This record gives sequence, C-alpha cells and structure tokens, in this order.
Amino acid sequence: MKFADLHLHTQFSDGTFTPEELVLRAQNSGLACIALTDHDTVEGCARAAAACAAVKMEFITGAELTAEHEDTEVHVLGYFLDPQNEVLLGKIAKFQAVRQSRIHEMVAALNRLGVPLTAEAVFTLANCKSPGRPHVARALVKEKLIGNLDEAFEKYLKKGRPAWVPKTKMSALESVELIHQAGGLAVMAHPGLNRTDDIIPDLVDAGLDGIECFHTKHSTVMSERYLEIAEKYHLLVTGGSDCHGFSKKAPLIGTVRVPYAYVEKLYAANKATTTNAP
Ligand code: AMP
Ligand code: ZN
Ligand code: FE
Ligand code: FE
Repeated sequence: MKFADLHLHTQFSDGTFTPEELVLRAQNSGLACIALTDHDTVEGCARAAAACAAVKMEFITGAELTAEHEDTEVHVLGYFLDPQNEVLLGKIAKFQAVRQSRIHEMVAALNRLGVPLTAEAVFTLANCKSPGRPHVARALVKEKLIGNLDEAFEKYLKKGRPAWVPKTKMSALESVELIHQAGGLAVMAHPGLNRTDDIIPDLVDAGLDGIECFHTKHSTVMSERYLEIAEKYHLLVTGGSDCHGFSKKAPLIGTVRVPYAYVEKLYAANKATTTNAP
C-alpha cells in the first residue's frame, strides 16, 4: 500500500525542519507522496520538490492560508498552486507583512506585562517571512522567560490571553477564490480542531474542493464523520500529520497516513480543473 502525508510545515513557516530534512524523514517513514503546506507561503516548495525528485517521491505544492468565517478562524489548504502566480504572491506578501507587524505587537504586549522579550529575538529565531505565535513561544523558552511552549500559549498567546493579537484575515470565501485563481484545489484544514462543521455548507457553496478528514487531532470517530460529510457534499478527501518538526514532541511526519487512492482523486480533480481552465 502507498501512503501520503499532505499537511507538513518547514522552517519557511513555523516548522523546525528544512525542506530537505522533511523529505528525508518522509522517505524514512515510507511515504510515497508528500505535500508542503507552510503557513502563508509557498517559498519552501521548490526545494522540497527538488529533494523529492532526487529520491523519486511524489510532491504536491501547497500552502495553508489563515482565513475566517463569521468570526471563526478557518485554515484553508491550497494544493497544486502555481508558485509563480502573481495574485497569490501579492496576497502572500500582505499576509506576511501582517504576521511581521503582529510580532511587534505581541512583543509589546509581553513587555507591558513585564516580560523582557525583544522582537529581534523572535525574528532571529524565526528567520522566515511567515513568523507566528510558535516563534514567539520558542523565543520565550529560549530566553528562559517561560518554562515550555505549552505554558507560553496558555499564559500569553492563546486566543483571549494577554499577548494574543488577532491577525487581519481574509474571508474563507476569498481564500477559496485566491487558491482557485492560482490553479489550486481548496481544502478545509482540520475541521475537527475548531469545531466548524456548521460553516462547511457555506464553503461548499463558495467552491470548496475538499476537506481534511485525517489529521493528528482527529479521533477515528471524527475522521469517519468527516468522510461522511465529504461524501454528502462530493468533496475530495485529504489528510496529514500537520508535522511542525521538533517544535513540540517527536516529529509527527508519517503518523497520519492517507491511503493513496485519495491522492489519485486529487490528481484527477487537479487535471480536470487544469483542463477546464481558460
Ligand atoms: P499563528 O498562525 O501565528 O496564529 O500560529 C498558529 C500556529 O500556532 C498553529 O499552526 C500551531 O502550529 C500553533 N499553535 C496554536 N495553538 C497552539 C497551542 N495552544 N499550543 C501550541 N501551539 C499552538
Ligand atoms: Zn503552524
Ligand atoms: Fe492549521
Ligand atoms: Fe498546519
């Protein structure tokens, strides 16, 4: 049996692996296909694609976009995106600028709380264009300003906590459109994580192509429910570990294994949309 892991992060956002390290791990996990889905960037995809080609592993270009629908944060995965698409790259530049100014705001909030973290420490550690809360958490740990990453989120960074700063987000409907105009398929990420089932019909109306049924944080029961939802709305099925490298515990890559039959359906859908493109 062939398996895929279609939700992975690298150092180009908040993962700790380089694309090459990620591909090596994928190979050691016996995966036949991976997709890179860094937050608000496709920058690591060229290197991941090259590393995959070198070991004859299949690679799908992707990204995980942060969006919202009726005040709920929704992550939308784009697969088979054109990494040169100018509209996509323009939007990505804006999301990244927001991410960077948000780091300054989070650090300022921490400073007001008496926590002497500097933005420089966060940017040095992040060393990427898509910095986020995990980088702030890691910098707090590195500077010995907190015991561990979980504490950093619990005390400061979780939604509603004193150093939490919201991101200006596009609507989920816009994210679907953005992905489509870049030649990609739009997939709702980890619906079980934020219990956002009620918004699925609206996203389907907006042209959502698929739903991430298999995910580290989905129980078997949850995955089964999302498989039923996928069938009901004729959605593609995806899944992945959402591996962030060594950021928390052991790397998750390969722990969620998507049967290859689902990947074949993705390829077929991609081919169909590409063929129909103007
Ligand atoms: P951001 O995009 O900056 O809002 O950060 C979101 C990322 O932070 C997610 O993709 C996770 O990797 C991580 N994250 C969110 N909540 C937590 C949490 N409670 N504990 C640890 N990591 C978290
Ligand atoms: Zn992340
Ligand atoms: Fe996510
Ligand atoms: Fe993710």
